[in-house]
Amino acid sequence: MIRIETSQIGENGYSVSGEEPGELLELERDPVARSDGPVRYELTVELGGQELVVRGQVEAPLRLRCSRCAQFFSTTVRVSSFLHAYEWAEHPEFLDVSADVREDLLLEIPGFPLCHDGCKGLCAQCGQDLNEGPCGCAPPERGPSPWSALDKLVATPGSRPPKDGHGRGRK
Ligand SMILES: [Zn+2]
Ligand SMILES: [Zn+2]
Repeated sequence: MIRIETSQIGENGYSVSGEEPGELLELERDPVARSDGPVRYELTVELGGQELVVRGQVEAPLRLRCSRCAQFFSTTVRVSSFLHAYEWAEHPEFLDVSADVREDLLLEIPGFPLCHDGCKGLCAQCGQDLNEGPCGCAPPERGPSPWSALDKLVATPGSRPPKDGHGRGRK
């Protein structure tokens, strides 16, 4: 838990930084994301009226499953402008920001993670990881395009009207 002792908050606010075990993210049963180390935080708390305003940054190393090749890869998700306000009265001694840190970090996980930009993914036929090399499957068959007949009409040489005066042996 990331808890801030409210008794430490003075006129100039209070800064805390540290690490929490990656279990904070509760990813144990997530099929595509795993914690890969401690969650790090650097936060400042300020008293504003009846509210405690917490801002700063948090980050966590993760293993994510690539949406193309299904391999896990290492990355770091980072929230560079964490900002939440809490009612002072609700938290007499400690302010627990764990849930917001967790939610904000999980929101940074991309919907379609990629191990790298050019990931070739898996062969749709045999399932081979095409990043490791070609698999020898024939490329997927495509039916005849409705445009192919039109292509011939347009591209056939000689279908243009002959130019005057330059005909060769056709007189
Ligand atoms: Zn990949
Ligand atoms: Zn294949």
